[in-house]
Amino acid sequence: MDVHEYQAKELLASFGVAIPRGGVVYTPDQAVYRAGEIGGDRWVVKAQIHSGARGKAGGVKLCTSEHEVRAAAAAMLGQRLVTTQTGPQGKLVQRLYVEAGVRIQRELYLGLVLDRRWERICVVAAPEGGVEIEDIARERPASILREVVEPAVGMQAFQARELAFGLKLGPSQIAPFVRAVLGAYRAFRDLDATMVEINPLVVTQDGQVLALDAKMSFDDNALFRRPTVRELRDYAEEDPREAEAAKHGLNYIALDGDIGCIVNGAGLAMATMDMIKHAGGEPANFLDIGGGATPERVAAAFRLVLSDAQVRAILVNIFAGINRCDWVAQGIVQAAREVGVSVPVVARLAGTNVAEGRRILRESGLRIITADGLADAAHAAVEALSRSQRSAEPARAYEAAR
Ligand code: GDP
Ligand code: MN
Repeated sequence: MDVHEYQAKELLASFGVAIPRGGVVYTPDQAVYRAGEIGGDRWVVKAQIHSGARGKAGGVKLCTSEHEVRAAAAAMLGQRLVTTQTGPQGKLVQRLYVEAGVRIQRELYLGLVLDRRWERICVVAAPEGGVEIEDIARERPASILREVVEPAVGMQAFQARELAFGLKLGPSQIAPFVRAVLGAYRAFRDLDATMVEINPLVVTQDGQVLALDAKMSFDDNALFRRPTVRELRDYAEEDPREAEAAKHGLNYIALDGDIGCIVNGAGLAMATMDMIKHAGGEPANFLDIGGGATPERVAAAFRLVLSDAQVRAILVNIFAGINRCDWVAQGIVQAAREVGVSVPVVARLAGTNVAEGRRILRESGLRIITADGLADAAHAAVEALSRSQRSAEPARAYEAAR
């Protein structure tokens, strides 16, 4: 899970990392009010979207008057910001962060990641901030400094000092730098983060060391024990279908194909996708409905798969151990009645209460193609798809001719 810059800054500040004064706003009026509260004579208005590289895309504006703050806020709010990380559709700006503008003397890079090779938290620093770390790694790899943290003792002050010396910080900057690094490390460890990036960490002209930008990602599997982090989730930033899936306890990943998959168990879902490919088709999604799926959850899965306009056929593959075929069948019937399934559905049910499940499908009056094995089911789905495409062709030709 990712969070916004202002949320990452609040979290980091609570671990002792110094940040400029600032506040989140939702309207130009609030932006002006907030700038007045912060005081001073320069402010930075920053678009809050889950993406870096906002500066180059016009999402970070340095302002020196109330008028400029209002204009910058009005220009950003409600617009889609396209950065090198958002894809061409960009991301809708719904919140801004207004912050005291600082006079920068030096920009540095600081990042903490879980290094898989070392199986340790690795702290990375570079003397060039505000530049993507990938670019530094490509152009000046030797300038990147690393400290690997021994988990039994945690990050030590001497390690942070090593980084400070490597960055050639002045004597008065070392203590505030060490505080920032150790604070970022504790935030990473105590909040179950997977990544902390402060880019840039700046030395100001009056000698402070401040986190000017901040990015944090968290381990989804640890969110259950981090309620303060969990509540920062912004569903507006996520793929709406994946967010909807998460609400129903479904594991969904959108793909490019046209055969929708509704499967229980991640392994079976992968095998089903392989079989579809093997049969000459393309899966439209990965979807694991999990164990013990109620009819409501199965219906939610159908709605989700059908909300993808690319889907031309659906393959339901259930191997019911903890699940029950009759519940799954009820879910299929419920969904078909509610949302009106307009594409062919192939169902392969096996396991607990399979006879009852098949009976429910048979007696529903719905046109559901049943299959016994996984290979049969995949072939049936690919065939149903090409049949429905053939029958749609004359209509499409007619549409095109009009
Ligand atoms: P990003 O482009 O999404 O990574 O956004 P950042 O928060 O990193 O801002 C981009 C750049 O704007 C930074 O690298 C700085 O050079 C500049 N910037 C941000 N805040 C300030 C500030 O308060 N004063 C000055 N002078 N520059 C700033
Ligand atoms: Mn940045």
